[in-house]
Amino acid sequence: MLVKLEKKAFGLLLYISVNTVMLLTGCSNSPQTKRHSAGGDTPGVEKGAADTVPKAVMPKKDSSHQFAWDSTSYDTSKCYIYLTFDDGPQNGTMNCYHIVKDLGIKATFFMVGMHADDRALRNIVDSIRDGYPEILLANHSFTHANNKYHYFYDHPEMAMEDFLKAQESLQVPFKIIRLPGNSAWVREGEVRASKLVKPVTLLLDSLQYNVIGWDVEWNFNHKTARPVQSVTSMLKLVEEAMNRGESHTKKHVVILSHDRMFRHPEDADSLYNFINTLKQNPRYVFETITSYPKLKTPGSN
Ligand SMILES: [Zn+2]
Repeated sequence: MLVKLEKKAFGLLLYISVNTVMLLTGCSNSPQTKRHSAGGDTPGVEKGAADTVPKAVMPKKDSSHQFAWDSTSYDTSKCYIYLTFDDGPQNGTMNCYHIVKDLGIKATFFMVGMHADDRALRNIVDSIRDGYPEILLANHSFTHANNKYHYFYDHPEMAMEDFLKAQESLQVPFKIIRLPGNSAWVREGEVRASKLVKPVTLLLDSLQYNVIGWDVEWNFNHKTARPVQSVTSMLKLVEEAMNRGESHTKKHVVILSHDRMFRHPEDADSLYNFINTLKQNPRYVFETITSYPKLKTPGSN
């Protein structure tokens, strides 16, 4: 049985760079390596780098792309998987991109504005944006709170401006945010957040933003940035989340991972195997976050 959820379509015209193919082939040795050492939640967030605001990507006028909230139909016999990659653009982003493309599935990249601080990195953001609708670019703030989460969330107006700056500089097509360092949810009729992040989530809610948390995390070693759990463990975690109905929304599981975890070929292989095994299960359907239930769409309020 299909449950129809009507989402109002809208048109947001963005332009696709005509040299996407060039960008994709040039990404594997992009210079972002230097910006992402292995430690911390956001290696590569350099102090003071917020001053180096990425120049807006100049649109090419000979092609265009339509971003729209499609009507989403949920098959109640299926389970929906939302793969999400955080903190790009960084070394590892394009490995994830190519794996997602090669396997023909869907995934969402929550990106950090200040990480896109040179042309090669901005090209990666373009590739992700242009991957729509199979690949979705979403907002993970401009500064990633400079990894000082308490200060960031204790200043909600400043934090909100930081998200708006990322929305603009990365040209994020939809109002979809993931908070740095915190799992919170803002959807139609829902604000679920810890005391620390509640003030900024309320501000974002008032601006019609959605905030997306996660259900299952593929953790990484903060010294090496390499994945902690094996593919087998991750498959079990996803299956348990589905079967126990413990995800934020039943039958919809959001998986959090980070682009940089998959920069080494053997770890990229793990990601490939993880997705490919999930894909063999006929119950599972991969979607981008725009298909998550009860998101606020333009015109829904
Ligand atoms: Zn992050």
